[in-house]
Amino acid sequence: MPQNKRGKLVVVTGPAGVGKSTILRSVMETTGSRFSVSVTTRAPRPAERNHRDYHFIDEPTFQGMRDHGELLEWAKVFDHYYGTPAAPICEAIDAGQTVILDIDLQGARQVRVKCPQAMFVLILPPDHETLVARLTGRGTENEEQLKIRLAKAQQEMEAAQASGLYNHQIVNDDLHRAVRELVEIVTQGAPQQ
Ligand code: ADP
Ligand code: 5GP
Repeated sequence: MPQNKRGKLVVVTGPAGVGKSTILRSVMETTGSRFSVSVTTRAPRPAERNHRDYHFIDEPTFQGMRDHGELLEWAKVFDHYYGTPAAPICEAIDAGQTVILDIDLQGARQVRVKCPQAMFVLILPPDHETLVARLTGRGTENEEQLKIRLAKAQQEMEAAQASGLYNHQIVNDDLHRAVRELVEIVTQGAPQQ
């Protein structure tokens, strides 16, 4: 009889516009791993769908979830609250599924404390100009939001690199190569204990 193997937890962090969602879509398709749908108090972007990209909730609902211990981690990012519901992750991992989280450094630090066996992957742009072009080209932020996100990007990447938290770094220059590298990490990393 095959042993009931637990799934893995993979934490992905990177600045806004680096290509996390794009990479994760392909990786999940290839590996059959599951995306952890976060809750957020920010408004949906035109192409985003409730319960697929995020669970879009209001602040009192977020506070209720946080105060009842329903979140594995949470953070305030760019003036909005974001958090990872814990229950779906535990269920998926117990069922042997790999779960991928797209969260910032503040959240990754909390996951490290609670789930030390998780894998941590940092996605980086080839250079700052490329990040600016991608974030601007996506067209989902107004000028003010763009300015805030880009100003924070360099500082966030430096903090993430200095944290010593990330086992792997992927430079998202060529999309296919970046996807291939993450697929390798997701499928070959050590299983959870
Ligand atoms: P994030 O989720 O990190 O905020 P997205 O996945 O939304 O970023 O990507 C931002 C923009 O960059 C999107 O328009 C996406 O199509 C584009 N993009 C992502 N990866 C690449 C790549 N390797 N080469 C060119 N464009 C890319
Ligand atoms: P965006 O608004 O562009 O979707 O995400 C903004 C930032 O919030 C990104 O760095 C993303 O990784 C992070 N983020 C998304 N969901 C969560 C979450 O549940 N927890 C934390 N800590 N960060 C999140």
